[in-house]
Amino acid sequence: SAQSTTDAPTGGVEISGVTKYYGDATAVDRLSLSIRPGEFLSLLGPSGCGKTTTLRMIAGFEHPDAGDIRLSGRSVLGLPPHKREVNTVFQAYALFPHMTVAENVAYGLQQRKVSKAEQRERVAEALDMVQLRRFADRKPTQLSGGQQQRIALSRALINRPSVLLLDEPLAALDRQLREEMQLELKLLQSRLGTTFVFVTHDQAEALSMSDRIAVMRAGRIEQLAAPADIYAEPASAYVASFIGQQNFLHGTALGGDAVDTFAGALRGRWGGEQGLPGSTAVAAIRPEFVRLAPAGTAEGPGVDGTVLGVSHLGETLQVAVDVGREQAFLVRIPAPGAPSVAVGDAVRCTWDPADVRIFADDGIPETA
Ligand code: ATP
Repeated sequence: SAQSTTDAPTGGVEISGVTKYYGDATAVDRLSLSIRPGEFLSLLGPSGCGKTTTLRMIAGFEHPDAGDIRLSGRSVLGLPPHKREVNTVFQAYALFPHMTVAENVAYGLQQRKVSKAEQRERVAEALDMVQLRRFADRKPTQLSGGQQQRIALSRALINRPSVLLLDEPLAALDRQLREEMQLELKLLQSRLGTTFVFVTHDQAEALSMSDRIAVMRAGRIEQLAAPADIYAEPASAYVASFIGQQNFLHGTALGGDAVDTFAGALRGRWGGEQGLPGSTAVAAIRPEFVRLAPAGTAEGPGVDGTVLGVSHLGETLQVAVDVGREQAFLVRIPAPGAPSVAVGDAVRCTWDPADVRIFADDGIPETA
């Protein structure tokens, strides 16, 4: 039942009320998501939250039990994968080892019986996209992991899909290469204007590349927003714990914008729905918003403790402070000009209430 709309721009993805069961388990639960044409959208969440299943339903490898999926305005539920204007890049690049790079890239065109001359031209163009034309005659085994992944990307782009689905394509690469590839992927995507739907469980990766991030939990989207907004205003403790680092102080909601914790009544601002007084709540404070002072010298909200460890993270210094709880309280201060801190120092961690977010306690573990 393909319902077509003529004015929908190419490359948009509309997922409406999609549910997918595997036996008794609900992998995707009434998920709705509208992906804009030309957008770089990441599906982010822990293992098992339904990211891959969602991607496989867009690709056509899995079929929803309920709901609809539209590509460029047209329902694709009745279409097999090869009839959808999408292509997929997987973590395992799945290059054919006995074929050259050029033959691997040309594979999709061969299947479609494109002429040899056009194949040559388009393979050159697709290899240029990933700056690997000079490797056209090599075999995949003669390439590094990063180069193999770029070939897989070039192979997926040769048919100029309006939507490219990427399932943790960088997960197998080492950290430095992964960061280079993140930049490269983002540049390629904006140059081509192709819609990218990118699955990852790596929040740094999602933050660095995406126009918007959909944070998933148990088959649903918990928050959909631009990276900066998710970072600054997470909608729940779950999202706050998943993006960046947090100190969570568990307690009880007081009337107004405050929560009663082991560190006293802390003021902050509610993220998500405000809890009733007496309900369980958490105060969340990011390590980079905490200041460190010698014990007894600082006023205002804070916690006292003893320095457990100091780690140098390049531009920042991370200080773990024992505040008498199960987990250390984390503080991040810019390394240049940082005060000298040593293990055993008695300190006070302080913050500005404007940097504190209060959330309903949704079961995230205590970290301070
Ligand atoms: P990961 O990052 O580990 O790939 P994910 O967020 O992509 O996780 P999915 O792979 O979509 O999650 O899986 C969602 C849920 O559905 C999980 O509980 C998983 O065990 C289950 N599931 C996925 N595929 C199948 C399958 N073919 N048969 C049965 N259960 C499945």
